[in-house]
Amino acid sequence: MRVAGAIFLFIAIIFSILLLLPTPEGFPILEYHMVTDNPPIDAEVYNVPPEEFAAQLDYLQQKGYTTLTLQEFMRAKHGKLTMPDKPIVLTFDDGYANIYTEMLPILEAHGMKAVVYVISNELGKDGYLTLEQVKDLQLRGVEIGSHTADHLALVGLEGEFLLNQVRNSKIYLEWSGLDTIYSFSYPNGAYNSELAELVKREGYLTAVTGDVGLNTMESNPYTLKRVHIRQPTFGITEFKWRLLKAELAEKISLALRF
Ligand SMILES: [Zn+2]
Repeated sequence: MRVAGAIFLFIAIIFSILLLLPTPEGFPILEYHMVTDNPPIDAEVYNVPPEEFAAQLDYLQQKGYTTLTLQEFMRAKHGKLTMPDKPIVLTFDDGYANIYTEMLPILEAHGMKAVVYVISNELGKDGYLTLEQVKDLQLRGVEIGSHTADHLALVGLEGEFLLNQVRNSKIYLEWSGLDTIYSFSYPNGAYNSELAELVKREGYLTAVTGDVGLNTMESNPYTLKRVHIRQPTFGITEFKWRLLKAELAEKISLALRF
């Protein structure tokens, strides 16, 4: 019991120190997947119901956040645009059909922006966005990014096969009539330095990972951090915790650097 007490005290002290440390600089990138009332049973954890999603956007608006795309972030990085006071990026992985049917109306009602990463070989399949919907999303100001051709775990793939996963999704989308695809999302958030190099060589300007934390103008644009927004059990309180989680993770990574 004494050991457990000591461990609890230790964790409480570390947590208090972290909370007392100044808020780190940087903006969050939120990672969503689906927005629907009817998620597939095996993917419920990846879903945020429309009502909850609307409440989350209300909260961000109340707190003075301004959404931007990653293309806009890169323009700001090159001095072509001024970053808003409290920037935040909303990203959606996998390209599910409900991004168009359920997420988009809520996003537009809030006048907000987003980045949607599509798996090019899944387009038009059951449950996924069609090419026409993707084009319309882009026309309405949603940034379209690549989430590879087939959503395979890239770490471990090699040569031509790996190259095609990164290259073909971009080419397919562009040749299908979309504007240039600048942003990339690593399947399952997993990457290494060779992959980041490859993504850069293939003409992408940004790539998002599954690492938790915040991002600044100085962040490597090929290893951007995100915070995963899963199906909430505790409503908006849980959403606030997740924003705090990104902040705490950033504090920890900064503390470990010294
Ligand atoms: Zn994915």
